[in-house]
Amino acid sequence: MAQRHAVAEARLLKKWICMKCSATHRGSKPSSCRKCGYKNFRLKAAERRKT
Ligand SMILES: [Zn+2]
Repeated sequence: MAQRHAVAEARLLKKWICMKCSATHRGSKPSSCRKCGYKNFRLKAAERRKT
């Protein structure tokens, strides 16, 4: 159970947000936005829910 939770949190830590259209991209940093093609992203901090 603890392992599964850790994996889920690790994924939440990687969220890229397009600085142009604010589309979110999970996983590794995308080369370009899938919506608008913009190439600048900011890394969103993980949002911790309860616990
Ligand atoms: Zn975009």
